[in-house]
Amino acid sequence: MIKLDGCLSPHVAMPQRNRVPVDWRLPCAGLERVRTLLWTCACRATIYELCTGGGQAFIRRTTQLEGEFDVHETSPMSISEARALWADLLCGVAR
Ligand SMILES: [Zn+2]
Repeated sequence: MIKLDGCLSPHVAMPQRNRVPVDWRLPCAGLERVRTLLWTCACRATIYELCTGGGQAFIRRTTQLEGEFDVHETSPMSISEARALWADLLCGVAR
């Protein structure tokens, strides 16, 4: 399901037809001491990061377009919720 293609980090799969839309918002400096737990491969134009801080977690989406970075994030959620959403993103169930 997740192909590595010689890359070290996973790639997201093609979104499925009945995917769940993710509520992407502009980033707001909400959580303290944010660190990135997991990330997708930087060879793609859009990379996703699973970030935690203050006992909560969110997912950050960065799209690289002609040298510009377009950053969106989910609102903070529990770490288990964020891990479930992360898995859905990777396999194309959510996008
Ligand atoms: Zn790659």
